Amino acid sequence: MLDHLGVSHLDELIDETLPAQIRATQPLHLPSAQAETAYLRKMKAVADKNKVFKSYIGQGYYDVVLPGVIQRNVFENPGWYTQYTPYQAEIAQGRLQALLNFQTMVIDLTGMEIANASLLDEATAAAEAMFMQYLVRKNKTANQYFVSETIFPQTLDVLHTRSQSYGIELLVGNVQDIPDSDQIFGVLVQYPAGDGTVSDYRELVSQLHNRNISVCAAADLISLTLLTAPGEWGADVVVGSTQRFGIPMGFGGPHAAYFATKEVYKRNVPGRIIGVTVDTNGDYALRMALQTREQHIRRDKASSNICTAQALLAIMAGFYAAYHGPKGLKQIAERIHALAALLDGALRQLGYAQLNETYFDTLRVELGELIGPLHAEALNNEVNLHYQGTLAGIAIDETTTYEDIETLVRIFAKLKGKTLNDVDLAALASNASSAIPEALCRTSAYLTHPVFNSYHSEHEMLRYIKSLEAKDLSLCHSMIPLGSCTMKLNATTEMVPITWPAFGGLHPFAPTDQIGGYMQVINELNQWLSEITGFAKVSFQPNSGAQGEYAGLMVIRAYHESRGDSHRDVVLIPSSAHGTNPASATMAGMQVVVVKCDERGNIDVEDLRTKAQLHATDLAALMVTYPSTHGVFEEPIVEICDIIHQCGGQVYMDGANMNAQVGLTSPGLIGADVCHLNLHKTFCIPHGGGGPGMGPIGVAEHLVPFLPNHPVVEVSGGQGISAVSAAPWGSASILLISHAYIAMMGSEGLTNATKYAILNANYLKARLESHYPILYAGANGRCAHELILDCRAFKAIGIEVSDIAKRLMDYGFHAPTVSFPVAGTLMVEPTESESKAELDRFCEALIAIRNEIAVIEEEQSDRVNNLLKGAPHTIAMVSADTWDKPYTRSQAAFPLPFVRDHKFWPSVGRVNDSLGDRTLICACPPMSAYEEIEA
Ligand SMILES: *Cc1c(COP(=O)(O)O)cnc(C)c1O
Repeated sequence: MLDHLGVSHLDELIDETLPAQIRATQPLHLPSAQAETAYLRKMKAVADKNKVFKSYIGQGYYDVVLPGVIQRNVFENPGWYTQYTPYQAEIAQGRLQALLNFQTMVIDLTGMEIANASLLDEATAAAEAMFMQYLVRKNKTANQYFVSETIFPQTLDVLHTRSQSYGIELLVGNVQDIPDSDQIFGVLVQYPAGDGTVSDYRELVSQLHNRNISVCAAADLISLTLLTAPGEWGADVVVGSTQRFGIPMGFGGPHAAYFATKEVYKRNVPGRIIGVTVDTNGDYALRMALQTREQHIRRDKASSNICTAQALLAIMAGFYAAYHGPKGLKQIAERIHALAALLDGALRQLGYAQLNETYFDTLRVELGELIGPLHAEALNNEVNLHYQGTLAGIAIDETTTYEDIETLVRIFAKLKGKTLNDVDLAALASNASSAIPEALCRTSAYLTHPVFNSYHSEHEMLRYIKSLEAKDLSLCHSMIPLGSCTMKLNATTEMVPITWPAFGGLHPFAPTDQIGGYMQVINELNQWLSEITGFAKVSFQPNSGAQGEYAGLMVIRAYHESRGDSHRDVVLIPSSAHGTNPASATMAGMQVVVVKCDERGNIDVEDLRTKAQLHATDLAALMVTYPSTHGVFEEPIVEICDIIHQCGGQVYMDGANMNAQVGLTSPGLIGADVCHLNLHKTFCIPHGGGGPGMGPIGVAEHLVPFLPNHPVVEVSGGQGISAVSAAPWGSASILLISHAYIAMMGSEGLTNATKYAILNANYLKARLESHYPILYAGANGRCAHELILDCRAFKAIGIEVSDIAKRLMDYGFHAPTVSFPVAGTLMVEPTESESKAELDRFCEALIAIRNEIAVIEEEQSDRVNNLLKGAPHTIAMVSADTWDKPYTRSQAAFPLPFVRDHKFWPSVGRVNDSLGDRTLICACPPMSAYEEIEA
């Protein structure tokens, strides 16, 4: 490989690539690399420091039973967890179907018209709802949002953060006392409420609608199998968590939140929506709908910055619903409710004041001075309740057994000098009555589609999961060379600890002395990532890269405010930036000013200087990606940081390209003040088909005091901004993956990974540059860890970059990033993980496609009817009885010898994008409806 590049040593290449000025002079100070077996042995001991008590804390997190068939075949299966976001629909029909199942489940249970394919957590979903309600408000001067006081505290805190930056005023109180003001545009209620009670909101909603006020309900999805759906009582938006659908608590996440609303708001829905369309053959096919209004295109006009969400967890929740079906889910909910009612009866018999007259699963007991003894006795029995003053909250879940109820009764009985025998549980059980108000008992049907009524045995479920998996190209098949979206090896050993019960079974609000294992992992990872970024401290709260951007900007805002500079609100963003940058800046209430790039793709330093000086009095920050999104280590980066600092701004570095920095340089060394790390890119958390991810932010010393806090668990100093996501440490359980990666790589391994990532990219460049023009390179003609192939010239003969992307599927490859950051190009990032053999196969495929294009250029092949336009070719197409293409079947399906050894068949022909957008169908359609859209 080095021969191809004309260098004799890897370090010679690195010297040519990285500007000397920003090279680290010291190796990373990290513990030495551990072998896989040694690491797992150590982690067993760490896991033992977590105490998994029986949790009745509730508050949005409940213990669950993850069916084994889903755990082994989805959660622990690289065929499901390593896929990319389904932009290339033809090789993603499996997860698209699984996500459509999820959307259908949400639509049915909430009684709404449309749903998206997941959001990050319940709290941020509520914030997205608030903002959507704000955007679509009838009275455009209204800016007050009324939130029910019974909302979960973490939801309220995130709403607080987000409302601030939009200039929305939050009013919190009893929904019976909503002020009679025309300044209120929306209301948020919780259903069942945060205290567990179940209220009928029909009357309220109709009054609010008369006042042009929209209503969002944060609803517990499993309870909706028994409760009247919010859509049936008039809610305009419904959000919540689907954690209870088989997803372990994992100390806070990841779990999929959902977002459902009315059809009229479809263009304002945050995140992704999967929609039904047809392929070239007129057959059923799925795709991501409304992609043109995605954040990448709308930039600072985007209404949300959601990019990575919780695809894998949404897929699992959808499978959980398919496995249990409507009857099974209802049974689970009925059992939860019955056990809660049983406990209620027992507590009353013991003379306790249980405050909730109505409830689904949560009781509240007033203990007065018995609260202390209760707390102690509960801990003696390894039981966690939710304590608030003299109240104890008890939330029953899917895992609660009759024996667990006995234990609880025993605890409460003991405080009154009684025993279990003083309560007649058997009699109570046989006389149980419902605490769900008659008027709110659900009567409408749900989950009637065959997908929720066909796979209730393990064999059927297993085969259904496998049949969908087989439609998806993942890292199990070949490299996924996505520029900017590092798709590297997700080593098996890194994945092992996340499914250990000692990590999966912990509630995020569990008492401090039960979470020693997690604290060790989080603290170590904090130190290691601080060392890697050259920063003082890391906050793990943001659960995606874009959330990290938002959090980082809010931290910068708080810093400016602390210095009396609250007017600083201008953010400079280069034109080449990822779309989430301007979207996050807008969400943080800042003004975006775009900085030009020169013809070599670099930031135009003079334009930057001019604009920084022009806005010097109100400059808040620069957002910069390094190496640039064009795949180049820009020489003047230090000067760029200086200019910003001289004008009083802070430098926010988008860390998506950390894979080109680790060990060689760092954001801190370069001069940045904050950066986010996409742990689901550089630090090996698998992409999950579009999530989960983690976007922690690292900050320099002066910003440490402003890192996000949390209303339930103190995680920051006094000046910390309010929460940016629901859980104190975000999706904590997947931090284990990045922890494992760093521990097993060590300083030298991590640095070598960066060097090999740069080597692999430059090797591709050397092999491909005589076939495709390569856009942009550094001073010595080297690229960083990614490169851009220019395909714009082929437009002259009618070949679009998307044709190349589709044709790559016939060769068994996922396309590189299409048309970002430059339209009409492909951005390739091979990562350090790919072998030379795989890189060579990928090059051969691209070169062969270039030759196919040459045949069209030479007019030896038709411009409309050719191998590229016909791609991808399915097994049905090439095995059909008729074949009328001007090329052969084997040219179509087996264009190179290696393809024969390992053919991956796209499951549908090219999908029709515009049809899918014109008729948005985002639930599993009955076959009849599907025939209609075809017509
Ligand atoms: C992936 C990416 C982001 C956004 O990260 P998410 O986790 O998807 O929100 C931001 N900037 C760049 C350059 C990226 O590649």
